[in-house]
Order: sequence, then C-alpha cells, then structure tokens
Amino acid sequence: MHCPYCESTEIRKNGKRRGKQNHICVSCGRQFIDVYSPPRGYSDSVKQECLRSYVNGMGFRAIERDKGVHHTTVILWLKQIGEKLPDAPAIEEIPQVGELDELETFVGSKKTKSGYGQQ
Ligand SMILES: [Zn+2]
Repeated sequence: MHCPYCESTEIRKNGKRRGKQNHICVSCGRQFIDVYSPPRGYSDSVKQECLRSYVNGMGFRAIERDKGVHHTTVILWLKQIGEKLPDAPAIEEIPQVGELDELETFVGSKKTKSGYGQQ
C-alpha cells in the first residue's frame, strides 16, 4: 500500500475512523483511509459523504481529517454543486463557518437575491 498523495510506501497506522483503519504518510504527513485509494480524484460516494458532512455542520478541516479529502477539494465540490443548483438550498442553510475567505466569497455571491450588501 502506498500514499495516494505522494506515492510513498512509508505508511503508519493512525488509529481508526468510523471503523476503518486510518493511515498517515510518513513522507508528506497526510492521512487517508485504506479502503479507498484513488490516486487522483474521488468516487461519487466519497464526494457525497463529504458534502453531507459539510451540510450537517462539519467544518472543512474536520472533513479533511475524517475523510482524508483535502479541504480545498471539498470547497471545489461545493462550488460545483452550487453552480448546478441555482438555488442551492443545502448550502444556504449552512451555519456560518467563517473559516475561509473563499467560502464567504462564494456564499456572498449567492445571496444577491435579497439585496445583501446594499446599504
Ligand atoms: Zn504521502
């Protein structure tokens, strides 16, 4: 087995996540679960799990730790579904995260319908 990020084979066990063995890469320090190991890209189920976690109020960093998906990847997915869904109800009801400027920009651009920002 090898690191899906840097291909290193220096892997250490790093506890369990939801019953699955979690690993940490000695070379790059990233964590991942051994069940999925797509070197590039993620399956739809991983994507949906991450987005669901986010909608349920989990922060990007928590998702990153939990799923092994980098938070910028999760943000990218959010943007993608936001573009597909004109009203994006799931995203609008998300509590404020305020963790990332990128997200605020994204959410702000979606709120134009209520005159948000006009003084
Ligand atoms: Zn690595």
